[in-house]
Amino acid sequence: MDRVLFTKEMRSEYTILLPNMLPVHFKIIEKIFRIYGYNAVLLENTGNAVISAGLKYVHNDACYPVQLIVGQFLDALASGEYDTHKVALLLTQTGGGCRASNYIPVLRKALKDAGMEYIPVISLNASGLEANPGFKVTLPMLKRSAYACIYGDLLMSLKNQCLPYEAVKGTTEEKVGKWTEILCSELAKKHLDKKRLKNMYGEIAADFESIERVKKIIPKVGIVGEIFVKFSPLGNNDIEKFLLSEDSEPVMPGLINFMIYFLANGIIDNELYAQKPVYAKVCKLAINFINKRTSQVAKAVRENSSFVPPEPLTDIEKLTQGYIGTGVKMGEGWLLVAEISELLHSGVNNVVCVQPFGCLPNHIVAKGVMKNMMQNNPGANIVAIDYDPGMTKVNQENRLRLMLSCARENLKENVKI
Ligand code: SF4
Repeated sequence: MDRVLFTKEMRSEYTILLPNMLPVHFKIIEKIFRIYGYNAVLLENTGNAVISAGLKYVHNDACYPVQLIVGQFLDALASGEYDTHKVALLLTQTGGGCRASNYIPVLRKALKDAGMEYIPVISLNASGLEANPGFKVTLPMLKRSAYACIYGDLLMSLKNQCLPYEAVKGTTEEKVGKWTEILCSELAKKHLDKKRLKNMYGEIAADFESIERVKKIIPKVGIVGEIFVKFSPLGNNDIEKFLLSEDSEPVMPGLINFMIYFLANGIIDNELYAQKPVYAKVCKLAINFINKRTSQVAKAVRENSSFVPPEPLTDIEKLTQGYIGTGVKMGEGWLLVAEISELLHSGVNNVVCVQPFGCLPNHIVAKGVMKNMMQNNPGANIVAIDYDPGMTKVNQENRLRLMLSCARENLKENVKI
């Protein structure tokens, strides 16, 4: 099928729809696209209509994330809110060996079946897979997007550390909204004020520290898994909200980890297969850029608050040793193992591994290592939960409740209540 290009002329006339995976991070990224002249709109539609549209246009054997992403686009296009002749769709393409590299052809097929094959689909990729004359990601755009991920992770982490304990309901969400607005306008400036950006890490932490919180000891629950289902409330039936309603604290390792995983694989491929030495060097530089900022974040959070800072994975070899080789990079590959190890080392013994049903690589990795990890870490309480359109929410929540009852027992023993 010939693809419809996104041309230079379309850039000023078209609206680009973005699927929503992480509400805070992507809100800032939407703003960054706008600064660079793209009329981007982050989709907010959710619920059963999205799932039904996904099932209508995507084979039900396909991965659940692609059903949801295509469903969200098709549902938005059917809403009448957008002129379908002046709209383009943007989707990331990993370029890895997993099916995620094929989500774009699946989306194009869905558009064809819906009679809208004239809509251009833009691939956002770092692997030179597809290019469009009217769309280009530049280095300054990438830098701003990296900041969006760093700040997004910070806000997500502080939010989860405040929400279960806030004395006045709503104060935490208010702070998240306030800082998202501030960050959007700060990153929209023509020239980035690096000093201001650095100072804001501490200001944000201090502002969240000012939230009145009640003292209580509740279980902390780490969330790992396939990236879309892990982060998207649409994909995981809003697992964070459910854990909060059960009086526990969700601990969500950040999006930066996935970026580190992606970049580290560029270095590992070079070490294992002598592939792309120049690309490996670029990956090293990008990791250094991220690590420098995230250590500034960690320092600022420690100095200005009592919160645990969001820290990215550093010693990958140590975290994965004895469980998995770092050459395993289909799906979330060794990242799953590294994140579980990191959570266990940091004292978060309860971990939920969320997976799209039928996600072969992640099931093999997660279920393959769980037994060993529990044997090597007494007290570890790890559970794998599947998500797909046919799974009932009640089943998922009952399994989470079972895990939480075990977590509470362990907590009682540890604090000797
Ligand atoms: S990681 Fe799983 S959900 Fe993602 S593309 Fe691969 S099989 Fe599909």
